[in-house]
Amino acid sequence: MLLDFIAPRHCAVCGMRLQTAEKTVCVSCLLDLNVSEYCGGESGNSLERTLWQQLPIRRAAAFMTYDHDDAQHEMVLHLKYHNQPRIGYHIGKLMSHQLTESHFFDGVDMIVPVPIPYARKAQRGYNQSEQLALGVSKATGIPVNTHIIKRRPYRTSQTRLTAASRQQNIKGSFVLGTARRLPLLKSRDLRALRGKHFLIVDDVITTTATVQECGRTLCQIPGVSVSVLSMAVSRNLINNIRRANPQDKESVRRTLPLCN
Ligand SMILES: [Zn+2]
Repeated sequence: MLLDFIAPRHCAVCGMRLQTAEKTVCVSCLLDLNVSEYCGGESGNSLERTLWQQLPIRRAAAFMTYDHDDAQHEMVLHLKYHNQPRIGYHIGKLMSHQLTESHFFDGVDMIVPVPIPYARKAQRGYNQSEQLALGVSKATGIPVNTHIIKRRPYRTSQTRLTAASRQQNIKGSFVLGTARRLPLLKSRDLRALRGKHFLIVDDVITTTATVQECGRTLCQIPGVSVSVLSMAVSRNLINNIRRANPQDKESVRRTLPLCN
């Protein structure tokens, strides 16, 4: 492509020059990713069953594994902290292609990205989960709704907390709302959302505390159901789920849909 010659594009992760057919992330970086056993979103998978214990979850999927020495650690850092929102959009589309076979999106009415506090979004310039959601929306045609829930300012950062403390710390962090000052949704707005099927989109699931609290908040609306899709799931959580479900065999899929 002539444009690539005049203004070369570079991989958002490794910085190498992109080939014409590559978008945002090069094929080499994509092939380095460890795809999770939940990436196909098969109905009844063990991540989904883990979330059942807390919420009326319909489906759950997570695209890749995440650990501090994984190749994808770099990708998550670029997406969250190095001003690379395009990675989220691109991965959002890739995840969606991976999931179409299992009819994961059937019946979903709206995509709800996990919100971050207003001050954090202003500082970062974007919400990484919203970028993922926009990519999913582009691939599936399902609309994104960023007004249903808002996040209150952080009390304590979740990063260094234990699983139990995270659960406690995240309680009450989300509120059904429509604007920056968090007014509760009016009853008219709530009526329109009754019975909807929301897909919560998150960047990394570490303990499920955040998606559970987000889902619980959405479930204050009568008759709704919830599905969950995450770009990554921590290796630690996968190990915990496997320990709790010893009958499940590891079935990591190495094939990636390299379409854009
Ligand atoms: Zn690369």
